[in-house]
Amino acid sequence: MEVCGDWFDVIVVGAGIMGSCTAYEVAKRGHKALLLEKFDFLHHLGSSHGESRTIRATYPEDYYASMVLESYRLWEEAQSEIGYRVLTRTSHFDMGPAANKSLQCAIANCEPNSINARILDRSQLHDMFSGVIQLPEQWIGVETDVGGVIKPTKAVAMFQALAIRRGAVLRDHMEVKDIGRDEAGGGIWVSTASGERFRGRKCVLTVGAWMRKLVKEVSGLDLPIQPLHTTVCYWKIKEGHEDEFSPKAGFPTFASYGEPYVYGTPSMEFPGLIKIAMHGGHPCDPDRRDWASGSGVLVDPVVPWIEQVLLPGSVEAGKPVMKQACLYSMTPDGDFIIDFLGGEFGKDVVVAGGFSGHGFKMGPAVGRILAEMAIDGKVAGFELKQFRLGRFEEDPKGNAKEFEDQVAFHVNP
Ligand SMILES: Cc1cc2nc3c(=O)[nH]c(=O)nc-3n(C[C@H](O)[C@H](O)[C@H](O)COP(=O)(O)OP(=O)(O)OC[C@H]3O[C@@H](n4cnc5c(N)ncnc54)[C@H](O)[C@@H]3O)c2cc1C
Repeated sequence: MEVCGDWFDVIVVGAGIMGSCTAYEVAKRGHKALLLEKFDFLHHLGSSHGESRTIRATYPEDYYASMVLESYRLWEEAQSEIGYRVLTRTSHFDMGPAANKSLQCAIANCEPNSINARILDRSQLHDMFSGVIQLPEQWIGVETDVGGVIKPTKAVAMFQALAIRRGAVLRDHMEVKDIGRDEAGGGIWVSTASGERFRGRKCVLTVGAWMRKLVKEVSGLDLPIQPLHTTVCYWKIKEGHEDEFSPKAGFPTFASYGEPYVYGTPSMEFPGLIKIAMHGGHPCDPDRRDWASGSGVLVDPVVPWIEQVLLPGSVEAGKPVMKQACLYSMTPDGDFIIDFLGGEFGKDVVVAGGFSGHGFKMGPAVGRILAEMAIDGKVAGFELKQFRLGRFEEDPKGNAKEFEDQVAFHVNP
């Protein structure tokens, strides 16, 4: 096996948003970072590609708002450093049946996190958002000004460019197959499918939907991370209504709680189209995906939602005009896994996965956390106990929640 080049302080495996932000944060701290990616950089086979991701600070769990707010600051900082924008600020609107427990918890978490929230009933909403959102009976909504749309592929490219600028080494077509202790060098080695071996002090695994496979291979540990194949839908806005759904007209990013959980962004990426999608997917093997079928159950429930919630005649609800495939990496409780791998690797290998369909917005904060874990062995300013690996040994369902699941699993494609 060929031993390659230099010795690195931190070897990051997987160049989606989490790995790219981590490589940047490591390099920013003056340490030597290597980022290895299995496919081409900016490929469309994982979770971090595409046209839009929502950033919002409203969460039913009370531990995400601080990560979102810190990420907001870091998104701005990175944009200033690179000199272009990847985030368009909008307001964010959550809605759903007034009795929905998740929505109630999301609203309750605003004040303690200093998030300015305006709770609106049906009649108060009437004049807002150009009148195109119409709450059904017994529904409420909450508007906050912490919202926005991030361009994912452009954002990953931005962090990769910034990492290179700060001295990181980035290599694609490098599928990591194994990791071991470098007894002679006192660190770890990482070997690839094509026969290279890299050496370093620490390693961070950010391999998204491949996390369960790689960690099993490397350590024998079976992480409960289930890859889901999901589908994003774009719908045609009817002629004359296009401007009403634009960020310029104040249309927000939104999430609609309940069954189905539906989310969307203002019309931006494709003129005349709006993204409205269902939060869910089919369990899959990320290396053997069925691209052809299976999106019906994720599309059909969106049709009545459009008919019920949007101004009649504003969006063509027959069927979506465009669909895009993507991957979620679900944990049983929908919370991230961010921890040291432990076992023979102790604190030398850090794992970060199971971002469960809602991690992108927090990529910059996660990158900061992972860099600190790798370099300092600890993290300042964030409580990470809810992201521990060990929680699944205590209870296979993970963190206890007092509200219902938001992501729908569909077993039959
Ligand atoms: C349709 C959709 C909509 C979403 N909407 C939102 C949203 O609105 N807001 C939000 O915050 N989040 C959202 N998310 C979630 C968010 O996109 C993900 O949480 C995030 O992109 C996960 O990033 P990651 O870096 O962990 O994984 P990935 O982007 O998949 O990166 C992992 C990388 O590791 C590489 N890799 C795998 N195995 C190896 C190996 N052995 N060696 C080397 N490299 C390897 C992969 O090729 C991949 O590039 C959405 C996700 C999807 C799919």
